[in-house]
Amino acid sequence: MGVMHIPGHDKQKPREVTLEEIRGVMGDCRLCPLYETRTKIVFGVGNPRARVMFVGEAPGRNEDLQGEPFVGRAGENLNAILSLAGLKREDIYIANVLKCRPPGNRNPRPEEVLACSPFLREQIRSIWPDIIVTLGNPATHFVLKTEIGITKLRGRFHQMGHFVVMPTFHPAAALRNPAWQELLEADFRMLGDYLARHPEDGPVIPATAHSDALPRVEE
Ligand code: SF4
Repeated sequence: MGVMHIPGHDKQKPREVTLEEIRGVMGDCRLCPLYETRTKIVFGVGNPRARVMFVGEAPGRNEDLQGEPFVGRAGENLNAILSLAGLKREDIYIANVLKCRPPGNRNPRPEEVLACSPFLREQIRSIWPDIIVTLGNPATHFVLKTEIGITKLRGRFHQMGHFVVMPTFHPAAALRNPAWQELLEADFRMLGDYLARHPEDGPVIPATAHSDALPRVEE
């Protein structure tokens, strides 16, 4: 598989705000009750000029303790399968929809997503990736604005305005389900193939409005 190191994606969109500025605005955020139980805010980590941005759901136990997303077993799984797409951790940026861990890893509540998601939106606007990989249902539902389940959405790319979105399983969930792990790995190979066929200095992918029909742009 061709192309692959993506050290610094040179994009045309002016960065209106830097990641540091967004983190500065977040400060010691208390916009939702999750501040009461968190150990550390998990803002996000990676290449601020990444061509591929990964979005997960919320910090888990290890992430909460270390203040970094995708550490522990889920992070190890992600690191391993990144190579299937020809990517390394330093090529990408990773953030979650929620920046603080829900107690006991319960699902995020709508009001928590509402409170926290402006930070993610600003991160996406700052990084302005070409491709957003959503990991698991909550991140996928947030980015694609749909309630359709991940098993129906994965395995293809979706156009969402400027962004090409690739929904796939969360690496932590895939560790508990070998069939999902196989599909996750297949999706990452598909991502690698897409990147090889769409070098960043190649033709611009036409952006089409996203709809409930979820237009298929790549197979
Ligand atoms: S989850 Fe987000 S909105 Fe809630 S306290 Fe943490 S940073 Fe603030």
